[in-house]
Amino acid sequence: MQSGRMKITNVEVLVLKSPGLYNNPEGSEEPLGPTYMGIVRVSTDAGITGYSDMETAASVAKAAVEAPRWSEPGVEAFDGLASLIVGENPLEVERLWYKMYRGSIYYGRRGVAIQAISAIDIALWDIMGKFYQQPIHILLGGKWRDKVRAYASTLFRPTPEAMREATKKYLDQGFTAIKFGWGVFGKDPNLDVRLVEAARQQMGSQNDLLVDTGWFIERTPKQAIQVVRSIESFRPFFVEEILHPEDYDGYRQVAESVDTLIACGEQEATEWGFRQLIEQGKVDILQPDLTRCGGFTIARKIVHMAELANVLVIPHSWSSDLLTAASLHLNAFQRRAVFVEFNTSQGPLSRAMVKTPLQMTDGYVPVPCGPGLGLEVNEETLEKYRIA
Ligand code: MG
Repeated sequence: MQSGRMKITNVEVLVLKSPGLYNNPEGSEEPLGPTYMGIVRVSTDAGITGYSDMETAASVAKAAVEAPRWSEPGVEAFDGLASLIVGENPLEVERLWYKMYRGSIYYGRRGVAIQAISAIDIALWDIMGKFYQQPIHILLGGKWRDKVRAYASTLFRPTPEAMREATKKYLDQGFTAIKFGWGVFGKDPNLDVRLVEAARQQMGSQNDLLVDTGWFIERTPKQAIQVVRSIESFRPFFVEEILHPEDYDGYRQVAESVDTLIACGEQEATEWGFRQLIEQGKVDILQPDLTRCGGFTIARKIVHMAELANVLVIPHSWSSDLLTAASLHLNAFQRRAVFVEFNTSQGPLSRAMVKTPLQMTDGYVPVPCGPGLGLEVNEETLEKYRIA
């Protein structure tokens, strides 16, 4: 280390491609998980390296990170993200977040720029934890729990029989909560009811059923209310993303009209976006994805806003164990944690990213307690599936 403080020396984006394709989302099989994934790797002159995965168009994010510095000093607005932070102290996470946001503002503010900033931010928190030899939840402010209840996260199956079979499979694995998402849901209202009914019958009353209707089928708020009411008797724990993520007024209308908890936020980003979702959208549950919302620096603020507003935070995480670990740290830190989303797909980009994959036991996943994210990235996996 030079001149008494640590410096960032390199920020790389690795683009990975799974050998199997994400299979038919309307089929009976378990999805294979992400086909493409971006990995951010931040190096320092102290020999400490931080990592994050990134759910975005990875090759576009790579361009945003690696683009040159174009602006004159003092007027940064069009710059590659790496150019803004190489040479900086990685422990200054909050200042560097705003430097990247400000320095990319003409092409950024949301979308791929904020997703790349999110992943870099997570990697910086990973570095900070390794530097201080503490897990990230301690750096966030504390550990309220050692383990978090998991929900199996999968897609709707196309028939009631296939729903029963899938439900049985996850219960046999030890899950006590299952989320079925979109796929066939929304094409036939009668079938929708039968699919949800089949899952509820199979799991009995003691387990939790979560429903992600997805917003790909465009609904008006009144149509959305009808959908929620049609499945309300099967007591879904929440209904997720029933409207377009931009329809804040629609979310308020739905949330105020039904008893079921309404969840949204996996597409939302920044503290300003989440403030709008809370104040205008009036949803019951916020679902920040740490690799899309702005990373830990923003997620910590979202938790604080949610606590003040009396809404829940259930982080979205459907990529690799890196994001699941990040979600576990956020859940360990928040007082009212409910679930960690556990991607059940078996593709290598979900399951082989770290040397000791996270395991669910008796419905819970332990919070990693090693420094930083608390996982050791499998560099062989990165090299094996790297395409750029
Ligand atoms: Mg979703």
